[in-house]
Amino acid sequence: MSTELQSDALATVVQKYWGYDQFRPLQRQAMQSVLEGRDSVVVLPTGGGKSLCFQAPAMCTDGLAIVVSPLISLMKDQIDALTTCGVPAACINSSNSLQERLRVKDEIDAGRLKLLYVAPERLMMDRTLDYLKGVDVSFFAIDEAHCISEWGHNFRPEYRTLSILKSAFPDVALHAYTATATPPVRDDIISQLGLTDPEVLVGSFDRPNLFYKVDRRHDRLNQIDEVLQKHKDESGIIYCISRKNVDEISTALNARGYRTLPYHAGMTDVQRKRHQNAYMKEDVDVIVATVAFGMGIDKSNVRFVIHAGMPKSLEAYQQESGRAGRDGLDATCYLFYSGGDFSLWKKMLEQDLTGDAYDAAIRSLSAMYDFCTSIVCRHRSLVGYFGQTLDASSCKACDVCLGDLDLVDDALVISQKILSCVVRLNQRFGADYTAQVLAGSNDQRILSAGHDQLSTWGLLKSEGKQNVRDWIEQLVAQGYLEKVGEYNILNVSDEGRNLLRGEAAPRLLMPRKKKKSERTQKRVTAGQENDYDHPLFDALKGLRRTIAQRLNVPAYIVFGDAALRDMARKRPSSLSAFREVKGVGEKKAQDFADEFIAFIVKHCKKQGLTMDV
Ligand code: ADP
Repeated sequence: MSTELQSDALATVVQKYWGYDQFRPLQRQAMQSVLEGRDSVVVLPTGGGKSLCFQAPAMCTDGLAIVVSPLISLMKDQIDALTTCGVPAACINSSNSLQERLRVKDEIDAGRLKLLYVAPERLMMDRTLDYLKGVDVSFFAIDEAHCISEWGHNFRPEYRTLSILKSAFPDVALHAYTATATPPVRDDIISQLGLTDPEVLVGSFDRPNLFYKVDRRHDRLNQIDEVLQKHKDESGIIYCISRKNVDEISTALNARGYRTLPYHAGMTDVQRKRHQNAYMKEDVDVIVATVAFGMGIDKSNVRFVIHAGMPKSLEAYQQESGRAGRDGLDATCYLFYSGGDFSLWKKMLEQDLTGDAYDAAIRSLSAMYDFCTSIVCRHRSLVGYFGQTLDASSCKACDVCLGDLDLVDDALVISQKILSCVVRLNQRFGADYTAQVLAGSNDQRILSAGHDQLSTWGLLKSEGKQNVRDWIEQLVAQGYLEKVGEYNILNVSDEGRNLLRGEAAPRLLMPRKKKKSERTQKRVTAGQENDYDHPLFDALKGLRRTIAQRLNVPAYIVFGDAALRDMARKRPSSLSAFREVKGVGEKKAQDFADEFIAFIVKHCKKQGLTMDV
């Protein structure tokens, strides 16, 4: 995957400050265009390592690199991360005091600063532009560049003003970075910023270190509980569709002895900030949230993301699940969906949208539901949706490829029974009622309507109502049934009529209780050997947390999980051995080696472990 670093200036800088010995895909090319002063657009997925693409070259060029970033709340973490590595960086934004601003100016005037983070509205102020014209600016890096495009999912009008940068600084190259894959957004970025013959680098949208697991939701809390037990002491996010779900799930999990915090837009700013900080500093491992949580969260060691409800589109799913495993280590994305989620989103979209916008949203929603119910490799489906292909025949990292999904053998016959029942009910009832009839319910409504006399009554009794209900949703998603009107009445579609004639190949998932044993979790991405001392890794996380609290920075800024695992593998007892650990640069070695080495030596002596492996 990664290219061995060659011994050149970039490699030296990346090793010295970040302690990395390899480039991620396209990083080297992206850095090269910065060094050559050629405008560029770099599209890499979340976790692809975009920041390093401009941070490392900034350390190899004269002058000051200006980084445009949309979120003031993120800047502090980014600056903390850089200064902890020994990279001279600062930001100017409205939260700076006058004193801080003067200090930053002094640093710039003295030529000591290499990276300056600034929000677009601040950069575009006349006095900022005038000041920067007198400074030796090496290049501009526009982070989250899709914010400039109305086609993107996160348009920010203040980004539009960046279009004057080219004329204000004609000799300075512009570099745009985004995780948004669509060609119209990319083209819009190029034209809005007025880039000249830019180098366009588009990475693969596949995230091989993410393991996707999709399951129907039958018992939400217990399904979540099962996941949390597998991920003890690991950092995770649980996404819910509604604020109410967030509160309920967080409360219920806490009652079961977990420590979680809720996060949604109904809480006050202060509460939200407190919960986010507690999560970033690892005072709690799990945050339960709506999609309000995420923009600007770049915690690198999120080991799992659970969707307790289906997201409304694959774009949203890619983005939210993509918050797992940014450090490149294995992480798991669980998605628990139900047919009811589809209907819930549909109702919400009906309230918010009309016309073309509504139609487009429904298409996205259907694509999402198809993803859930399909039996195609999850990695392949996701990259396919974004217009890319996957080379490998099996990703070895999803429930489909690892044979964890079981399909019903006689799906056609079962589907015919279901559709016949819809016809017998004169296409006048909803999914729930139809499922009850098929399951042979003696509910008063059914008896008084005489539906217990239908030939299809009790036809799927042995399968149980819930399974039949799930199958109905799967048939809706595959287009054989349609839900119409305010009450979601079931109708047989044209394709459904073909199915009744035996001219279709529907797919139905095996009921959960009949599923084969789960085989999925035993997987380690190539190059991520599991051969480190796990108790030492856990203990080192404790030490990391203590140091992070002392320094008042998020825990992953001290060291990422990859570095701690490598420490727990190599168990260094000397400074030179400590320097060999991945993710340990000069500054971090200087600042943290003594504390970590003493801790490791003590642990190894107590446990009788060899050191300096
Ligand atoms: P993006 O902005 O593309 O989402 P980041 O720049 O936040 O991704 O990088 C994600 C994580 O990967 C960070 O923890 C970063 O330190 C790490 N990383 C980036 N490049 C490398 C590399 N060459 N080797 C090891 N880790 C890297």
